Amino acid sequence: MKKIKYHLPMIKRGILTLMQIEKPFVILHIIIEIISQFAPYITIYMSARIIDELIGNQNVNTLILYILITIGANMILSLLINGLTHLKNYHQEQFYKNETMNFSEKTMSMDYENTENRDINLLRERINTESRTGYNIYNLYTALGNFVGAVINIVLAITLTLSLFANREVSLISKLIMLAMIAGIIIVNYFTANKRSKLYLNMYEDAVPLNAMFHYYAGFYSNYNAGKDIRLYSMEEFIREWQQQFYEKNNNLLITLIKKVLKHDIIYSVSSNALRIAAYIFVMLACVAGSVTVGSIAMYVSCIVRVIGAATGLVTYGQTLIVNNKYLEHYFKYLDIPSKMYQGTLPVEKRDDNEYEIEFRNVSFKYPGTNTYALKNLSMKLNIGQRLAVVGMNGSGKTTMIKLLCRLYDPTEGEITLNGFNIKKYNYDEYMSIFSVVFQDFKLFSFPLGQNVASSSDYDGKRTAECLKMSGFDARLDNMPKGLETALYKDFEEDGVEISGGEAQKIALARALYKDAPFIVLDEPTAALDPIAEFEVYSKFNEIVGGKTAIYISHRLSSCRFCDDIAVFHEGELIQRGSHDTLITDASGKYCELWNAQAQYYAENKENKQ
Ligand code: ADP
Repeated sequence: MKKIKYHLPMIKRGILTLMQIEKPFVILHIIIEIISQFAPYITIYMSARIIDELIGNQNVNTLILYILITIGANMILSLLINGLTHLKNYHQEQFYKNETMNFSEKTMSMDYENTENRDINLLRERINTESRTGYNIYNLYTALGNFVGAVINIVLAITLTLSLFANREVSLISKLIMLAMIAGIIIVNYFTANKRSKLYLNMYEDAVPLNAMFHYYAGFYSNYNAGKDIRLYSMEEFIREWQQQFYEKNNNLLITLIKKVLKHDIIYSVSSNALRIAAYIFVMLACVAGSVTVGSIAMYVSCIVRVIGAATGLVTYGQTLIVNNKYLEHYFKYLDIPSKMYQGTLPVEKRDDNEYEIEFRNVSFKYPGTNTYALKNLSMKLNIGQRLAVVGMNGSGKTTMIKLLCRLYDPTEGEITLNGFNIKKYNYDEYMSIFSVVFQDFKLFSFPLGQNVASSSDYDGKRTAECLKMSGFDARLDNMPKGLETALYKDFEEDGVEISGGEAQKIALARALYKDAPFIVLDEPTAALDPIAEFEVYSKFNEIVGGKTAIYISHRLSSCRFCDDIAVFHEGELIQRGSHDTLITDASGKYCELWNAQAQYYAENKENKQ
């Protein structure tokens, strides 16, 4: 009972999901399965009639009619199946496409912190492996079609066999023996099918972590960027060893599975053939008793064997549906991961004056799965139009502060407010729209340059070029073979261009400028730039930022001097705040210590060069 309560709703949800992904595909698949079941029975039934006519009346006209009915009906069914299959193939493509899109959309809209969650990443990898192996939603439509097909098969086979069992001249005892055999073999097949499914399930359970590892290593071959490190550190042998280990473990799993499954396959084969022999004996005896026509012998034997086949199919496909529920559970578990970031509903007021005020109120934060605070008791306000520099040593919490500001994570304690309201209350997409951020580990894509800058296939060329000019990419743009339409990287376009780290950083900066959001956050935006390009960004900083509120993160203190307000972070805490001129006067302060340490480095560098 408990099992039914689990399995039926799961299958129901699966079917609803299939219909939602591509309804025509599912309906066509089932209709084709149903029609396909009719064809053999027409031949079985008509063959019996033809044989009886040949042995009996031998009327040529009747024979021609029977033959024409057999050929005509088979032709119509086969034409129908062919036509519908073409239509189904089209919708099958749509099904694969839509399903992939649905799943990817879930991944993309997931809360950012989940993208770093090991369990969720393993679950995703597991689902991908299971989909590739034909389980979850990909198995449901096949198993469902087969299940419906088996039901139709049973109904047709029983209908044609009924007259034999209803025949009073066939002894009751032989009917009972036959029925008992059919039931017995169905039970044997049920257990073998059940056992087989469980063995396969266990094997896939063991194969999931192996497959995840295999795809990780296989990814190296398609990612040419990894090629540099692999060559320089001679990692080929090391990677090959890992792959070899994968193949060996996978092969062992397969061999163990085959050995175990073989036993059940033999039992299934022996019992099915025993039934076939018994059916022949049973029908022949009935024939000898004179109660069955010669033509019907083959029909009854075929139908009895088909009843068993269909009943076994029903058990197997029913079992497959049940086993598949385990995979559907994984699939839905992923789709059901809540997106807490999307719970806010408050609209963000559109303001031409950019009067947005952000405040951190006693904010502390631990990364999921860690016990140490990356930020502790942070309280600070970001004033409108302000240029705030955030400085501090590596690991002092600067980037974490930005991640919280942009709601990539929510604070563990305390709150962040926008114009007085907790930022969690705002509509997530609207809240995100007020930030332009260039993270240290920004990502550009293998699209044309213009689309990278505008984050859209539809972009304003003039504005895109202006943003690229502002970020210092203008000279390089002039050298791009197709201008803004030049593809970045060579993944998809032969004439795509490879760009340097500094050039990529400039494009990322232009992307932030194109978004034209009221807050602009630059996390080490000049780390990959050469000194001249870095100087250009500094000198144009006011022009770049315009009337926006700007946060500029750097561990190079000299690059923050042009900001009117500097926040100094140390070990997750905000320990000093003020202008450069004020902070430098506090000789015991962290800012002064960092400044002197870096100034000393520059001085030493100068001396060494002299
Ligand atoms: P900064 O930007 O000042 O260099 P971060 O904000 O990146 O420093 O890091 C602050 C602390 O949080 C560091 O101790 C770092 O190791 C830790 N940290 C950063 N990102 C993660 C993460 N995704 N998971 C766990 N710890 C992290």
